[in-house]
Amino acid sequence: MSNVYNFSAGPAKLPEPVMQQAREQFVDWNASGTSVMEVSHRGHDFIQVAEQAEQDLRDLLAIPADYKVLFMHGGGRGQFAAVPLNLSRPDQTSLHLVSGSWSKGAVAEAAKYNQARVIKQAGTKDGLAFMAPPAAADIDKDAAYLHFCPNETVDGIAYDWLPEANGVPLVADMSSTILSQPLDISRYGMLYAGAQKNIGPSGLSVVIVHESLLGKAQTATPSIFDYTLAAKHDSMYNTPPTFSWYLAGLVFQWLKSIGGLTEMARRNATKASTLYNAIDASDFYRNQIHPRCRSKMNVPFQLADAALDSRFVQEAEAQGLKALKGHRSVGGMRASIYNAMPLEGVTALVSFMAEFERKYG
Ligand code: PMP
Repeated sequence: MSNVYNFSAGPAKLPEPVMQQAREQFVDWNASGTSVMEVSHRGHDFIQVAEQAEQDLRDLLAIPADYKVLFMHGGGRGQFAAVPLNLSRPDQTSLHLVSGSWSKGAVAEAAKYNQARVIKQAGTKDGLAFMAPPAAADIDKDAAYLHFCPNETVDGIAYDWLPEANGVPLVADMSSTILSQPLDISRYGMLYAGAQKNIGPSGLSVVIVHESLLGKAQTATPSIFDYTLAAKHDSMYNTPPTFSWYLAGLVFQWLKSIGGLTEMARRNATKASTLYNAIDASDFYRNQIHPRCRSKMNVPFQLADAALDSRFVQEAEAQGLKALKGHRSVGGMRASIYNAMPLEGVTALVSFMAEFERKYG
Protein backbone atom coordinates (compact mmCIF):
# COMPACT_ATOMS: atom_id res chain seq x y z
CA MET A 1 0.00 0.00 0.00
CA SER A 2 2.68 2.49 1.03
CA ASN A 3 4.65 2.08 -2.22
CA VAL A 4 1.76 3.54 -4.16
CA TYR A 5 0.99 7.25 -4.32
CA ASN A 6 -2.44 8.07 -5.68
CA PHE A 7 -2.70 11.54 -7.25
CA SER A 8 -6.38 11.20 -8.20
CA ALA A 9 -8.44 14.41 -8.26
CA GLY A 10 -11.38 12.69 -6.60
CA PRO A 11 -12.45 10.37 -5.25
CA ALA A 12 -8.98 10.81 -3.87
CA LYS A 13 -6.49 9.33 -1.46
CA LEU A 14 -7.62 9.23 2.16
CA PRO A 15 -5.21 9.43 5.12
CA GLU A 16 -3.54 6.07 5.64
CA PRO A 17 -4.12 5.95 9.44
CA VAL A 18 -7.84 6.55 8.78
CA MET A 19 -8.01 3.70 6.29
CA GLN A 20 -6.24 1.36 8.73
CA GLN A 21 -8.64 2.34 11.50
CA ALA A 22 -11.68 1.85 9.25
CA ARG A 23 -10.34 -1.57 8.22
CA GLU A 24 -9.98 -2.64 11.84
CA GLN A 25 -13.54 -1.54 12.59
CA PHE A 26 -15.06 -2.64 9.31
CA VAL A 27 -17.03 -5.75 10.31
CA ASP A 28 -17.00 -5.30 14.08
CA TRP A 29 -17.49 -1.69 14.94
CA ASN A 30 -17.06 -0.77 18.63
CA ALA A 31 -17.24 -4.50 19.48
CA SER A 32 -20.89 -4.46 18.45
CA GLY A 33 -20.66 -7.38 16.03
CA THR A 34 -21.95 -5.18 13.21
CA SER A 35 -20.50 -2.67 10.82
CA VAL A 36 -21.24 1.03 11.24
CA MET A 37 -22.97 0.86 7.86
CA GLU A 38 -25.40 -1.78 9.10
CA VAL A 39 -26.96 0.16 11.95
CA SER A 40 -29.80 2.65 12.04
CA HIS A 41 -28.90 6.28 11.55
CA ARG A 42 -31.36 7.04 14.34
CA GLY A 43 -29.77 4.66 16.84
CA HIS A 44 -27.83 6.00 19.81
CA ASP A 45 -24.48 4.71 18.55
CA PHE A 46 -24.67 6.34 15.14
CA ILE A 47 -26.04 9.60 16.54
CA GLN A 48 -22.92 9.78 18.69
CA VAL A 49 -20.72 9.34 15.62
CA ALA A 50 -22.69 12.00 13.75
CA GLU A 51 -22.57 14.53 16.59
CA GLN A 52 -18.88 13.96 17.23
CA ALA A 53 -18.09 14.46 13.54
CA GLU A 54 -19.97 17.75 13.51
CA GLN A 55 -18.25 18.92 16.69
CA ASP A 56 -14.81 18.03 15.34
CA LEU A 57 -15.51 19.88 12.10
CA ARG A 58 -16.71 22.89 14.11
CA ASP A 59 -13.50 22.79 16.17
CA LEU A 60 -11.24 22.43 13.13
CA LEU A 61 -12.79 25.35 11.24
CA ALA A 62 -13.76 27.39 14.32
CA ILE A 63 -17.31 27.54 12.99
CA PRO A 64 -19.32 30.21 14.85
CA ALA A 65 -22.46 29.07 16.69
CA ASP A 66 -24.80 30.95 14.33
CA TYR A 67 -23.82 28.71 11.41
CA LYS A 68 -25.52 25.38 10.74
CA VAL A 69 -23.44 22.41 9.62
CA LEU A 70 -25.37 20.09 7.31
CA PHE A 71 -24.38 16.64 6.05
CA MET A 72 -26.20 16.18 2.76
CA HIS A 73 -26.45 14.04 -0.36
CA GLY A 74 -25.69 14.84 -3.96
CA GLY A 75 -22.04 15.88 -4.01
CA GLY A 76 -20.85 19.20 -5.35
CA ARG A 77 -23.25 19.29 -8.27
CA GLY A 78 -26.16 18.65 -5.94
CA GLN A 79 -25.21 21.93 -4.27
CA PHE A 80 -25.05 23.71 -7.64
CA ALA A 81 -28.86 23.25 -7.60
CA ALA A 82 -29.46 23.43 -3.85
CA VAL A 83 -27.77 26.84 -3.48
CA PRO A 84 -30.03 28.78 -5.90
CA LEU A 85 -33.10 26.86 -4.73
CA ASN A 86 -32.45 27.69 -1.08
CA LEU A 87 -31.01 31.17 -1.28
CA SER A 88 -32.82 32.94 -4.12
CA ARG A 89 -36.21 33.57 -5.66
CA PRO A 90 -36.69 32.79 -9.37
CA ASP A 91 -36.73 36.54 -10.15
CA GLN A 92 -33.60 37.28 -8.14
CA THR A 93 -30.05 37.64 -9.41
CA SER A 94 -27.13 35.52 -8.29
CA LEU A 95 -23.67 36.87 -9.09
CA HIS A 96 -20.91 34.55 -10.24
CA LEU A 97 -17.14 34.59 -10.53
CA VAL A 98 -16.01 32.10 -13.15
CA SER A 99 -12.42 30.98 -12.75
CA GLY A 100 -12.69 27.54 -14.32
CA SER A 101 -14.93 24.67 -15.26
CA TRP A 102 -16.61 24.07 -11.89
CA SER A 103 -17.63 27.66 -11.24
CA LYS A 104 -18.89 27.70 -14.83
CA GLY A 105 -20.97 24.58 -14.14
CA ALA A 106 -22.44 26.26 -11.07
CA VAL A 107 -23.73 29.22 -13.13
CA ALA A 108 -25.40 26.95 -15.68
CA GLU A 109 -27.26 25.12 -12.92
CA ALA A 110 -28.20 28.29 -11.02
CA ALA A 111 -29.64 29.77 -14.23
CA LYS A 112 -32.36 27.10 -14.13
CA TYR A 113 -33.66 28.54 -10.86
CA ASN A 114 -32.78 32.23 -10.79
CA GLN A 115 -31.29 35.08 -12.84
CA ALA A 116 -27.66 33.98 -12.67
CA ARG A 117 -25.11 36.50 -13.95
CA VAL A 118 -21.36 36.19 -14.47
CA ILE A 119 -19.57 39.33 -13.28
CA LYS A 120 -15.95 38.26 -13.62
CA GLN A 121 -14.10 35.55 -15.56
CA ALA A 122 -10.51 34.36 -15.37
CA GLY A 123 -8.18 36.12 -17.79
CA THR A 124 -4.44 36.26 -18.28
CA LYS A 125 -1.58 38.20 -16.76
CA ASP A 126 1.94 38.00 -18.21
CA GLY A 127 0.62 35.33 -20.56
CA LEU A 128 -0.50 33.09 -17.70
CA ALA A 129 -3.99 32.25 -16.43
CA PHE A 130 -5.04 34.73 -13.75
CA MET A 131 -8.13 35.51 -11.72
CA ALA A 132 -8.63 39.10 -10.54
CA PRO A 133 -11.33 40.28 -8.11
CA PRO A 134 -14.53 41.81 -9.53
CA ALA A 135 -14.94 45.60 -9.59
CA ALA A 136 -17.13 47.09 -6.83
CA ALA A 137 -19.36 48.55 -9.57
CA ASP A 138 -20.24 45.01 -10.72
CA ILE A 139 -21.77 44.07 -7.40
CA ASP A 140 -25.55 44.39 -7.55
CA LYS A 141 -26.44 45.01 -3.90
CA ASP A 142 -29.85 43.39 -4.39
CA ALA A 143 -28.37 40.10 -5.58
CA ALA A 144 -29.26 37.06 -3.49
CA TYR A 145 -25.63 35.90 -3.22
CA LEU A 146 -22.25 35.88 -4.91
CA HIS A 147 -20.92 32.42 -5.86
CA PHE A 148 -17.28 31.54 -6.47
CA CYS A 149 -14.92 28.57 -6.42
CA PRO A 150 -11.64 29.40 -4.65
CA ASN A 151 -9.92 26.28 -5.95
CA GLU A 152 -10.68 25.03 -9.45
CA THR A 153 -9.95 21.31 -9.46
CA VAL A 154 -9.63 20.89 -13.23
CA ASP A 155 -7.88 24.15 -14.11
CA GLY A 156 -5.58 24.38 -11.09
CA ILE A 157 -6.53 28.03 -10.53
CA ALA A 158 -6.88 29.20 -6.93
CA TYR A 159 -7.10 32.52 -5.11
CA ASP A 160 -7.24 33.41 -1.48
CA TRP A 161 -8.77 36.90 -1.70
CA LEU A 162 -12.44 37.27 -0.92
CA PRO A 163 -14.61 39.44 -3.16
CA GLU A 164 -15.73 42.77 -1.66
CA ALA A 165 -19.43 42.03 -1.97
CA ASN A 166 -20.99 45.01 -0.16
CA GLY A 167 -23.19 42.90 2.06
CA VAL A 168 -24.18 40.35 -0.61
CA PRO A 169 -23.66 36.90 1.02
CA LEU A 170 -20.61 35.03 -0.28
CA VAL A 171 -21.14 31.40 -1.28
CA ALA A 172 -18.01 29.32 -1.91
CA ASP A 173 -17.64 25.94 -3.57
CA MET A 174 -14.80 24.55 -1.48
CA SER A 175 -15.03 20.99 -2.77
CA SER A 176 -11.31 20.71 -3.49
CA THR A 177 -9.85 22.99 -0.84
CA ILE A 178 -11.90 22.72 2.35
CA LEU A 179 -9.82 21.82 5.42
CA SER A 180 -6.55 22.52 3.60
CA GLN A 181 -5.96 25.67 5.69
CA PRO A 182 -7.72 27.73 8.39
CA LEU A 183 -10.66 29.86 7.22
CA ASP A 184 -12.56 32.81 8.65
CA ILE A 185 -16.04 31.33 8.31
CA SER A 186 -17.70 34.56 9.44
CA ARG A 187 -16.78 36.16 6.09
CA TYR A 188 -19.05 33.71 4.22
CA GLY A 189 -22.80 33.39 3.97
CA MET A 190 -22.28 29.75 3.23
CA LEU A 191 -19.79 27.31 1.87
CA TYR A 192 -20.07 23.75 0.70
CA ALA A 193 -17.94 20.84 -0.41
CA GLY A 194 -18.39 17.44 -1.97
CA ALA A 195 -16.62 15.06 0.39
CA GLN A 196 -14.45 13.01 -1.95
CA LYS A 197 -11.24 15.05 -1.79
CA ASN A 198 -10.41 16.36 1.69
CA ILE A 199 -13.32 14.99 3.73
CA GLY A 200 -14.02 11.32 3.02
CA PRO A 201 -15.72 9.01 0.54
CA SER A 202 -18.09 10.32 -2.12
CA GLY A 203 -21.82 10.41 -1.47
CA LEU A 204 -21.67 13.14 1.14
CA SER A 205 -21.54 16.89 0.88
CA VAL A 206 -20.95 19.25 3.75
CA VAL A 207 -22.76 22.60 3.92
CA ILE A 208 -21.91 25.34 6.40
CA VAL A 209 -24.58 28.02 6.26
CA HIS A 210 -25.38 31.13 8.27
CA GLU A 211 -28.74 30.89 10.03
CA SER A 212 -29.97 34.11 8.43
CA LEU A 213 -30.00 32.36 5.03
CA LEU A 214 -32.41 29.65 6.12
CA GLY A 215 -36.15 29.79 5.55
CA LYS A 216 -35.93 31.23 2.02
CA ALA A 217 -36.18 28.05 -0.09
CA GLN A 218 -38.24 28.11 -3.28
CA THR A 219 -41.46 26.07 -3.01
CA ALA A 220 -40.23 23.62 -5.63
CA THR A 221 -37.06 22.75 -3.66
CA PRO A 222 -36.82 18.96 -3.26
CA SER A 223 -37.17 18.21 0.45
CA ILE A 224 -33.83 16.41 0.63
CA PHE A 225 -32.10 19.55 -0.67
CA ASP A 226 -33.89 21.95 1.67
CA TYR A 227 -31.37 23.45 4.13
CA THR A 228 -34.06 24.48 6.61
CA LEU A 229 -35.49 20.96 6.76
CA ALA A 230 -32.00 19.47 6.96
CA ALA A 231 -31.13 21.79 9.84
CA LYS A 232 -34.38 21.07 11.64
CA HIS A 233 -33.79 17.33 11.40
CA ASP A 234 -30.05 17.39 12.22
CA SER A 235 -29.30 16.25 8.65
CA MET A 236 -31.50 13.18 9.14
CA TYR A 237 -34.65 14.17 7.32
CA ASN A 238 -34.00 11.03 5.29
CA THR A 239 -31.32 8.37 5.60
CA PRO A 240 -27.95 10.09 5.28
CA PRO A 241 -24.87 8.46 3.70
CA THR A 242 -23.90 6.97 7.05
CA PHE A 243 -20.63 5.30 6.10
CA SER A 244 -19.29 8.46 4.45
CA TRP A 245 -20.32 10.48 7.49
CA TYR A 246 -18.55 8.03 9.83
CA LEU A 247 -15.41 8.07 7.72
CA ALA A 248 -15.46 11.86 7.50
CA GLY A 249 -15.52 11.81 11.31
CA LEU A 250 -12.34 9.71 11.34
CA VAL A 251 -10.70 12.16 8.92
CA PHE A 252 -11.62 15.08 11.19
CA GLN A 253 -10.07 13.26 14.17
CA TRP A 254 -6.93 12.59 12.15
CA LEU A 255 -6.70 16.28 11.26
CA LYS A 256 -6.98 17.21 14.92
CA SER A 257 -4.35 14.65 15.86
CA ILE A 258 -1.74 16.10 13.50
CA GLY A 259 -2.25 19.62 14.87
CA GLY A 260 -5.29 20.94 13.03
CA LEU A 261 -5.49 23.18 9.99
CA THR A 262 -2.49 25.38 10.78
CA GLU A 263 -0.23 22.33 10.60
CA MET A 264 -2.16 21.01 7.58
CA ALA A 265 -1.64 24.33 5.78
CA ARG A 266 2.08 24.22 6.56
CA ARG A 267 2.39 20.71 5.12
CA ASN A 268 0.32 21.62 2.06
CA ALA A 269 2.49 24.68 1.37
CA THR A 270 5.66 22.56 1.53
CA LYS A 271 4.22 19.93 -0.83
CA ALA A 272 3.04 22.52 -3.33
CA SER A 273 6.29 24.49 -3.39
CA THR A 274 8.29 21.27 -3.78
CA LEU A 275 6.32 20.40 -6.91
CA TYR A 276 6.10 23.90 -8.43
CA ASN A 277 9.83 24.47 -7.82
CA ALA A 278 10.59 21.29 -9.76
CA ILE A 279 8.33 22.37 -12.63
CA ASP A 280 9.77 25.90 -12.72
CA ALA A 281 13.37 24.68 -12.62
CA SER A 282 12.95 22.75 -15.87
CA ASP A 283 12.18 23.62 -19.49
CA PHE A 284 10.83 20.13 -19.98
CA TYR A 285 7.78 20.79 -17.75
CA ARG A 286 5.59 23.84 -17.43
CA ASN A 287 2.55 25.12 -15.55
CA GLN A 288 0.53 27.86 -17.21
CA ILE A 289 -1.06 29.44 -14.17
CA HIS A 290 0.15 32.77 -12.80
CA PRO A 291 2.17 32.18 -9.59
CA ARG A 292 -0.40 34.20 -7.61
CA CYS A 293 -3.21 31.90 -8.72
CA ARG A 294 -1.58 28.51 -8.42
CA SER A 295 -3.57 25.87 -6.61
CA LYS A 296 -1.92 24.10 -3.69
CA MET A 297 -4.27 21.14 -4.18
CA ASN A 298 -4.39 20.45 -7.94
CA VAL A 299 -1.24 21.02 -9.96
CA PRO A 300 -1.68 20.74 -13.72
CA PHE A 301 1.49 20.58 -15.77
CA GLN A 302 2.43 19.94 -19.37
CA LEU A 303 5.40 18.30 -21.01
CA ALA A 304 7.21 20.40 -23.62
CA ASP A 305 6.58 17.51 -26.02
CA ALA A 306 2.96 16.36 -25.69
CA ALA A 307 3.81 13.23 -27.70
CA LEU A 308 5.47 11.94 -24.51
CA ASP A 309 2.31 12.35 -22.38
CA SER A 310 1.10 8.77 -22.46
CA ARG A 311 4.62 7.42 -21.90
CA PHE A 312 4.90 9.68 -18.84
CA VAL A 313 1.63 8.39 -17.40
CA GLN A 314 2.53 4.75 -18.10
CA GLU A 315 6.03 4.91 -16.63
CA ALA A 316 4.77 6.81 -13.59
CA GLU A 317 2.07 4.16 -13.01
CA ALA A 318 4.70 1.44 -13.24
CA GLN A 319 6.51 3.15 -10.36
CA GLY A 320 3.36 3.40 -8.25
CA LEU A 321 2.61 7.05 -9.09
CA LYS A 322 -1.02 6.78 -10.04
CA ALA A 323 -3.70 8.90 -11.71
CA LEU A 324 -1.46 11.65 -13.10
CA LYS A 325 -3.27 12.02 -16.42
CA GLY A 326 -4.76 15.50 -16.78
CA HIS A 327 -8.51 16.05 -16.98
CA ARG A 328 -9.88 15.07 -20.39
CA SER A 329 -10.86 18.70 -21.08
CA VAL A 330 -7.35 20.13 -20.63
CA GLY A 331 -4.94 17.24 -21.34
CA GLY A 332 -1.38 17.10 -20.01
CA MET A 333 -0.83 15.99 -16.43
CA ARG A 334 -2.38 16.84 -13.12
CA ALA A 335 -1.12 15.93 -9.67
CA SER A 336 -3.76 16.31 -6.98
CA ILE A 337 -1.97 16.69 -3.66
CA TYR A 338 -4.78 16.95 -1.14
CA ASN A 339 -4.39 16.74 2.63
CA ALA A 340 -3.88 12.97 2.63
CA MET A 341 -0.92 13.05 0.21
CA PRO A 342 2.28 12.87 2.26
CA LEU A 343 5.35 14.92 1.30
CA GLU A 344 7.04 11.60 0.41
CA GLY A 345 4.51 11.18 -2.42
CA VAL A 346 5.44 14.56 -3.84
CA THR A 347 9.18 13.94 -3.55
CA ALA A 348 8.71 10.56 -5.26
CA LEU A 349 6.91 12.33 -8.10
CA VAL A 350 9.59 15.02 -8.36
CA SER A 351 12.35 12.36 -8.54
CA PHE A 352 10.43 10.49 -11.21
CA MET A 353 9.99 13.71 -13.20
CA ALA A 354 13.73 14.41 -13.07
CA GLU A 355 14.50 10.86 -14.15
CA PHE A 356 11.98 11.02 -17.01
CA GLU A 357 13.49 14.29 -18.20
CA ARG A 358 17.00 12.76 -18.16
CA LYS A 359 15.74 9.89 -20.30
CA TYR A 360 13.69 11.81 -22.85
CA GLY A 361 14.65 15.46 -22.52
N1 PMP B 1 -17.04 21.53 -7.53
C1 PMP B 1 -15.72 21.23 -7.55
C2 PMP B 1 -14.73 22.30 -7.21
C3 PMP B 1 -15.30 19.94 -7.89
O1 PMP B 1 -14.00 19.64 -7.91
C4 PMP B 1 -16.27 18.96 -8.19
C5 PMP B 1 -15.90 17.54 -8.55
N2 PMP B 1 -14.64 17.26 -8.86
C6 PMP B 1 -17.61 19.33 -8.18
C7 PMP B 1 -17.97 20.61 -7.83
C8 PMP B 1 -18.68 18.33 -8.51
O2 PMP B 1 -18.74 17.38 -7.51
P1 PMP B 1 -19.62 16.06 -7.62
O3 PMP B 1 -18.99 15.18 -8.65
O4 PMP B 1 -19.55 15.52 -6.23
O5 PMP B 1 -21.00 16.47 -7.99
